Amino acid sequence: MSPQTIDLVYLVSAALFIFSLKWMSDPKTARNGVFAGVAAMALAVAGTLLRPDITAGGYTWIFVAVVLGTMVGVPLSWVPLTAVPQRTALSHAFGGLAAGLVGIGKYYLFLHDGDLTAFRTGAIVFEVALGLMTCTGSLVAAGKLQEVLPTRPVTYPGQNFVNFALIGAGVLIGIALVVNPTLTFLFPVLIVLALAFGVMLVMPIGGADMPTVISLLNSYAGLAAVAMGFVLENKLLIVAGALDGSSGLILSIIMCRAMNRSFTNVLFGAFGQVTAAKGAVEQRSVKSATIEDAAQILEAADRVVIVPGYGMAVAQAQHRVRDVFEQLTKKGINVQFAVHPVAGRMPGHMNVLLAEAEIPYDKLVEMDDINPEMSQIDVCIILGANDVVNPAARHDKSSPIYGMPIIDADKARTVLANKRSMNPGFAGIENELYFAPNTLMMFGDSKVVMGELAKALSGESGGH
Ligand code: NDP
Repeated sequence: MSPQTIDLVYLVSAALFIFSLKWMSDPKTARNGVFAGVAAMALAVAGTLLRPDITAGGYTWIFVAVVLGTMVGVPLSWVPLTAVPQRTALSHAFGGLAAGLVGIGKYYLFLHDGDLTAFRTGAIVFEVALGLMTCTGSLVAAGKLQEVLPTRPVTYPGQNFVNFALIGAGVLIGIALVVNPTLTFLFPVLIVLALAFGVMLVMPIGGADMPTVISLLNSYAGLAAVAMGFVLENKLLIVAGALDGSSGLILSIIMCRAMNRSFTNVLFGAFGQVTAAKGAVEQRSVKSATIEDAAQILEAADRVVIVPGYGMAVAQAQHRVRDVFEQLTKKGINVQFAVHPVAGRMPGHMNVLLAEAEIPYDKLVEMDDINPEMSQIDVCIILGANDVVNPAARHDKSSPIYGMPIIDADKARTVLANKRSMNPGFAGIENELYFAPNTLMMFGDSKVVMGELAKALSGESGGH
C-alpha cells in the first residue's frame, strides 16, 4: 500500500478513536463508542501491516508476536468485572513494556546506523523512562489489588527524598544522553532507574488509591506511546497516545474530585494507614427489617431511590434489582438509581452493571442531581454501598473520608440498607447511617435479598 493510502487509513483511524471517546462518555452511545474504538484499532493494525517496508521475515516475527499476544490476551478477558481494575493494570504493564522495548531496540539500531540525533534520543529517553516505569508500577498496582502484595502503604523514613533523588538522577542521565547520545554506558542505568522508580512510586500508595493510580499510569503509558510515535515517526501513535494520556489524566482528576483528594495526597498521602488506625467500633444497636416489612414500606412509597455499591457488584445482584425495579414500577412507584461517581471499584462500575440488567438509562441519576431531592424521597434502598453514603464525610473532620462528596441517603424518610454484616466498607470505617433512627437493615447477600424482595412485591411469597 502506498504511504499516502496508509496515511489516509491512519487519519480515519484517528478520527474513529476521537469519536469513540466522545460516544463512550454517554451510556446511550457507549456501545457505538466501543465499536468505533474496535474499528479504529483494526484499521491502525491493518494500515501498519500493509506498510511497504515490512519484509517477509518481518511478517514472521509479527505472526509470532500476534500468537503470543493472543495467548496472553484471551485469558485476560475472562476475569470477572470486579477484577477489571487489576486486569487494566496488567494491560498498562504490557503497554509500558512494549513501549520500553521498542525504545531500547531503536536506541541500539539508531546507534548502529549512526542516526542517533539529539531529538530522537530525547524521544527514546522519554519513551523508555515512562514505558518501563509504567510497566513495573502497574505490576505493583495489579499485585496490590489482587492482594498478592501488601495493600497497605509500604513506607520508610526518607522515602520521598529517595524517590526525588531517583527522578533527579533519571533527568540528569536523560539530559546527558540527549547532549551526547553515544554515552552508551548511561542507557542501561536509565533502564534500571525507570524499572526501580515504578516500584518505588506505587509501593507507598495504599490499596484504596490503586484505581486512581492505575488511571494515572494509563496516562503515563499514553505519553510513552506519544514518545514512541516520534521515535517511529508514526503519526497515529502520537494522536492515539495523546488521547490515551489525556483521558487517563482526566479520569484521575474526576476520581480524585469524587473522593475529595488531591493528586499529591494520592501520591504521597499513604491513605490506607489512616484508615487502619480507626479500628474501635462502638457497641450500638441497629434495627432490622424482614423482607415482608421492607415490601410493605416500599408499597406505601411514591418515590424510591436505589443506591448501588460494591456489594451489588460482588453479589451480581443487578438482575434481581431489575426485578424489584419492575415490581415497584408496575405499582406506579417512581424508582430511580442514584449512582455515585466512585461507587464500586472503578468509575462507571455501577453504570455497566445496571446497563447489563437493562435498567433504562433515564432512571439513572447523578449524585449532584439527586441530593437536593433526597428529603422528598420516601424510601432509599442502599444496596451494598457503604462509604459513598457515609454521612461522616459531611461533618466528621477526623474521618478519613471527610470532605468526600456523598449521596445524602440519610435524608430520605426511610432507609433500607442491605449488606451482609456490620463490617466496614472500603475505607475501613464504621457508617453511622446504619444506626440512624430512620434506617432499617436488611442483612444478607444482595442477590438473595433482592430476589426475595421481588417475590414478596409480586405477591408470590404470600407474605402480605
Ligand atoms: P464500599 O466498599 O464502601 O462498601 C461495600 C459494602 O458492600 C460493604 O460494606 C460490604 O458489607 C457490602 N457487601 C459486600 N459484599 C456483599 C454482598 N455479597 N451482598 C451485600 N453486601 C455486600 O462500597 P461503595 O460502593 O459504597 O464505595 C466504594 C469505595 O471504593 C469508596 O470508598 C471509594 O472511594 C472506593 N474507591 C472507588 C473507586 C471507583 O472508581 N469506584 C476507586 C477507588 C476507590 P458486608 O461485608 O457487611 O456485606
